[in-house]
Amino acid sequence: MKLIKGNIVYAPALGKLVTLERGALMLSDDGTVTDVLAVPPESCEAEVYDYGEALVMPSFADMHLHAPQYPMLGMGMDLPLMDWLNTYTFKTEARFADTDYARSVYRALAKDLITGGTTRVCMFSSLHTDATLILMEELERAGVTGCVGKVNMDRGSEALRETTEQSKSETLRWLDSCDGFRYIKPILTPRFTPSCTDELMAWLGKLAEERGLRVQSHLSENLDEMALVRRLCPDCGQYWETYAKHGLWKDHTVMAHCVHSDEREREALLKHNVAVAHCADSNINICSGIAPVRTLLREGVWVTLGSDIAGGAQLAMNNVITMSIRASKMRAVQTDGRDAFLGVDEAYYLGSTAGHRWFGADGGFARGEALHAIVLDDSALPEPVCTLTLRERFERSIYLMDKSTIKAVWSEGRKVVG
Ligand SMILES: [Zn+2]
Repeated sequence: MKLIKGNIVYAPALGKLVTLERGALMLSDDGTVTDVLAVPPESCEAEVYDYGEALVMPSFADMHLHAPQYPMLGMGMDLPLMDWLNTYTFKTEARFADTDYARSVYRALAKDLITGGTTRVCMFSSLHTDATLILMEELERAGVTGCVGKVNMDRGSEALRETTEQSKSETLRWLDSCDGFRYIKPILTPRFTPSCTDELMAWLGKLAEERGLRVQSHLSENLDEMALVRRLCPDCGQYWETYAKHGLWKDHTVMAHCVHSDEREREALLKHNVAVAHCADSNINICSGIAPVRTLLREGVWVTLGSDIAGGAQLAMNNVITMSIRASKMRAVQTDGRDAFLGVDEAYYLGSTAGHRWFGADGGFARGEALHAIVLDDSALPEPVCTLTLRERFERSIYLMDKSTIKAVWSEGRKVVG
């Protein structure tokens, strides 16, 4: 048994925050949560991790990011989506044909993620099979868990493209090489409709069905992109139907953005239990717009958060969370308050629990689940004028934390940092 002592904070549901001052988590030997205690036992047989006054909170889940764009963080922020892709992104991703380069970038990325408290990811690689396998190895080595997809793209970009046949055979080679991974699983990843022919999309849909694989892609991010999709797919009334007609629109499919999804598209998200990865920093950086997150939540759509590096320039999920709050406040202003902005506890829920649920976890520190947690020491933050409640400390930490305040990270029941 293991006993973790500290100030326990978690968000089991949207708008609900539980705070237990000087509480504890009881774990089994393999790191599974067996109990959440308001008062730790006076004495017990367990191995004790006493984190004192630190906050112990569920870790972050980044539900949309592009690993090969890590080297271009903060670049090209003055370009709209399609120009940004063609000027920077496809050229950067092309570098990942070089496996040595991939190894050094992905090792650094994996370390950056885990030391920042992100223990689960739903991630895009590039189209390169070998680099994708290296990415999966490096994430596992660092202690990150989740899903990674070799990207499929057989049309569009001159700088980066595979033939339809290559895309199929390399996807099969990649999937056949994934059996040895314990914590990182494959997910099918058609880049987005403009990058994939109907033939490839149909093949991927069939493969998803045959092998029970999940799917991730992009949806209704930007008006130019949506106009391009309408030109490319005149048979589909709406963007989502370009995925649906090939069997890629299904339970647990992750669609990044959904900035411009109208009522009908939102209905389709809800009906098929498709998860939205909301990426506010990216949407503002490349002038895509502000997603109607409150409307999505009110309608019952599953909303998670993604850093979307490198459209997003922040890998740290606490910054992604605060950015989603700021974006929601702009939306509240634009709608005269009809779309109420996100509270800190709500945005934290989206950046942690809502993403963890995609991997099958229940809310917060649920009993029977492997521990995913961060330990935050906020003592180095500016001295407040009065004693803060635990809830105030939580709010301040979400806004002000950085790696130096993260004292330990637990991922899938293992202490992987600290
Ligand atoms: Zn993206």
